Amino acid sequence: MKLSHIEHIGIAVKNLDESIKFYEEVLGLQCYNIEEVKDQKVRTAFFLVGLTKIELLESTDPEGPIAKFIGKKGEGIHHIAYAVDDLQKNLDELHQKGIQLIDKEPRGGAEGLNIAFLHPRSTYGVLTELCEHPDQTHS
Ligand code: ZN
Repeated sequence: MKLSHIEHIGIAVKNLDESIKFYEEVLGLQCYNIEEVKDQKVRTAFFLVGLTKIELLESTDPEGPIAKFIGKKGEGIHHIAYAVDDLQKNLDELHQKGIQLIDKEPRGGAEGLNIAFLHPRSTYGVLTELCEHPDQTHS
């Protein structure tokens, strides 16, 4: 397994528009993309810091995973996403090592990336996402 960098940090927020203001007006970042990911019942906003993005996530459904996360833990860091090449191969290797996977196969995420989540039970409590740019698929 070879992680090239932290692709993004996902942060669960109750109100996307309000939280964007904080990132822009206080932290001085620029939101360059707002996107709804229907599959995950979220609206996302992206900021770039160096190579790493901040992904704000607002639930579009009271039963969605982000709404449930906030209900349990409150707003805050939701997941860390690492960039990898050949996501499927990495998932197969992790599976062989006994790591519990939420996604055994890559699926489409925001920004056209292929993504997969590892279960926090296998990662010391951190919901961990792996993502690859589609042009880096080798299989
Ligand atoms: Zn993510």
